[in-house]
Amino acid sequence: MVKIRTVRGDISPEDLGVTLSHEHILINLQFLCNLMMPQEASLRALMDKPVTIEMIYLLRRGVRKFNYDDALLSDIDLMVRELLEYKSFSGRSLVEQTLPGIGRDPLGLKRISELTGLNIICSTGWYIVSSHPSYVKNKSSEELADIMIKEIEEGIDDIGIKAGVIGECGCSFPIPYHPEEEKVLRAACKAQKATGVAFSCHPAFIDVERKVYRTDAPLAYIKLIEKEGANLEKFFLSHSDIVCPTSDHASKLLEKGINLSFDTFGQDHYDDYIFMGARHPTDPERISNIVELCKRGYEKNIMLSQDVCWKHLLKRYGGPGYSHLLEHIVPTFRYYGVKEKQIRTMLIDNPKRILSF
Ligand SMILES: [Zn+2]
Repeated sequence: MVKIRTVRGDISPEDLGVTLSHEHILINLQFLCNLMMPQEASLRALMDKPVTIEMIYLLRRGVRKFNYDDALLSDIDLMVRELLEYKSFSGRSLVEQTLPGIGRDPLGLKRISELTGLNIICSTGWYIVSSHPSYVKNKSSEELADIMIKEIEEGIDDIGIKAGVIGECGCSFPIPYHPEEEKVLRAACKAQKATGVAFSCHPAFIDVERKVYRTDAPLAYIKLIEKEGANLEKFFLSHSDIVCPTSDHASKLLEKGINLSFDTFGQDHYDDYIFMGARHPTDPERISNIVELCKRGYEKNIMLSQDVCWKHLLKRYGGPGYSHLLEHIVPTFRYYGVKEKQIRTMLIDNPKRILSF
C-alpha cells in the first residue's frame, strides 16, 4: 500500500495536506558556533548570552552562528506554540530534516505531533561532515545505508518510531562534497533504492578558500545519483533558493528531472561578516524566481519551506516563524499571478507524490 511515514505511524497520502518540505523543530546547531568562533572580544562576549530582542539584528546579519542559545531549539512547549501558528493558517504537515549529530529527537517530535495534531516526518542520514557522529567515519557506504534502511523499515533505536525520508544529507567543503559526505550521499542512494523513500541533500555553496558563494554543486549530485541508480524523481534539492538564484539556474536542474525545495523563505541573512558581499536571497528574489518558474510550467517539481532552525527565526523572538510562507508569501504569489492550482501543486500535490512510497 502506498503510504507516508510519520512519527505517529503511516498515513494515507490523501491525509498529508499542506506540507513544508524542509523544517527543523528540535535541533542543536551549536557545533557551528564552535567552527565560526569570532575574533572580536565584543562578539565573543555575546556567545554565551541568552538570545534577547536587542540581539536579533546582529543575529540576522552576518553575526548569526555566534550564539549558543540561538542555535538550540529544545523547548517543547515553545515549539508547540510556534507550530500552532502554522496550523492556524491551514498547515497540516512538515518534513523535519534534523539528523543524528545535530540533535534529532524522534520522541520529542512524536510528543509535538500529538500536542499539535500536525503530521511530522522524521529523517535519517547525516548532515555536513563537521557534525558527523564519530561512528560515521569507520563505516562504509553500504553499512551506513543499512542503518538508514533499518531506521526506515524497522525503526529508530527501539523507540517504535520510523524515519520517513532521507536527508538533509549535508555537503560542505570542498565543493561539491567532502569525501565523507560523498560516502553518505552514496549510502543515501542505496537506501533510497532499497526502500523507495524520498531523499534530500543540503548542497555545498560556500567556497571557504575564495570566500564566495557557488552554485555549481547540484550537477555533481545529480551525476552521483544517476551513477548509483537511485530515483531522481524522489530526490529534492534542499536550499534550491540559495543555489538557484535565478530561474535559469533552476530550469537547468529541473530539466534533469529532480525536484527543487525552495526552503529558506523568511531568511534574508547577509553573510558579509564572514564573506564580503555573500548573502542569502531575499524573499522578493525568491518570489520572482518562483513566479517565473510557474510561468514556465515547472510548478510540478517545486516544494516550499522555511528551514526554521535558529531561535531568531521564531515568532517568539520577532522572527518570521513557521506560518510565514502561508501568511505572507502565498498571498504575494497570488498577487503576481500564480494560479491557485499551481499553489496547491507546490504545497500539497508535490509533497504527496514525492514523500509517498
Ligand atoms: Zn535544514
